Amino acid sequence: MEVPSSSNLSQSSRRLEGKVAIITGGASGIGATAASLFIHYGAIVVIADIQDDLGHSLCETILESHKHSNPTISYIHCDVTREDDVRNLIDATISKHGKLDIMFNNAGISGKDFGTNLIEVDNEDFKRVMEVNVYGALLGAKHAARAMIAKNTKGSIIFTASLASMMGTEGISHAYTASKHAVLGLVRNLCVELGQHGIRVNCISPYVVASPMLSGELPSMEMSRVEEMTHKAGNLKGVVLRADDVAEAAVYLASEEAKYVSGLNLIIDGGYSTTNPAFP
Ligand code: NAD
Repeated sequence: MEVPSSSNLSQSSRRLEGKVAIITGGASGIGATAASLFIHYGAIVVIADIQDDLGHSLCETILESHKHSNPTISYIHCDVTREDDVRNLIDATISKHGKLDIMFNNAGISGKDFGTNLIEVDNEDFKRVMEVNVYGALLGAKHAARAMIAKNTKGSIIFTASLASMMGTEGISHAYTASKHAVLGLVRNLCVELGQHGIRVNCISPYVVASPMLSGELPSMEMSRVEEMTHKAGNLKGVVLRADDVAEAAVYLASEEAKYVSGLNLIIDGGYSTTNPAFP
């Protein structure tokens, strides 16, 4: 029986060595943590976001904190709902780094309509959530696939979905739940089509993550309320995910270790979705 040699084990700490990765929504929260982790594991990272000051300062912080390994990281402004921006993001990455291995379609918004009933739904808010979370994800995948196919790169396309990709939940907007179900639908369709080119397509579905999305867009939802919600799950009591719980899953899906993993919805919820909250 073969066992991993110590040299193989030490390589795994640089498991994304030389891979070129784009992270949308990379200036904040899960995306920002993923940028730092991808660099830690040896990737070349391009952060794409609409929060330009935050994106640039994140690059400087990561460069400083990883300076021992001389990392390559940059920021590009990209509104994922604008096809010209997305095309430019991909083309600029290819012209600078020669290829694209990992497309982490992570940008997303929650919308403002939390807790609103159907009759009072804000139509414009619904459209905007769908535009960013679904159309933006489609554009990212479309242009990433274009570049990967042209370069014959066996790449990895990863979406950040949500537990709302699989279930409705009281208090979460209809738009958000519908949009994340749509992301999972995209993964299931695209993994078949792009699999013919050796490109893997997966998504990650976390439960509640402590990130600026939570504190910024849901100001009324105190962390104590979030913890109370997770208590209801009955599993892994009190767990509110951290951004790195999700970012580590993205590293796995981006890595060679996941070379046969495609079409997966990687759920990170402490078992919540396997229980019935009505029976605590
Ligand atoms: P966040 O608000 O910290 O990060 C989202 C990032 O997306 C921000 O930097 C924002 O500027 C960027 N963004 C928004 N609209 C954009 C656009 N049009 N173009 C480019 N960038 C845009 O929140 P987060 O929690 O890190 O969210 C990341 C992903 O995780 C989202 O897709 C979100 O739906 C998903 N998610 C979050 C939670 C949670 O509880 N926080 C749970 C499950 C899934």
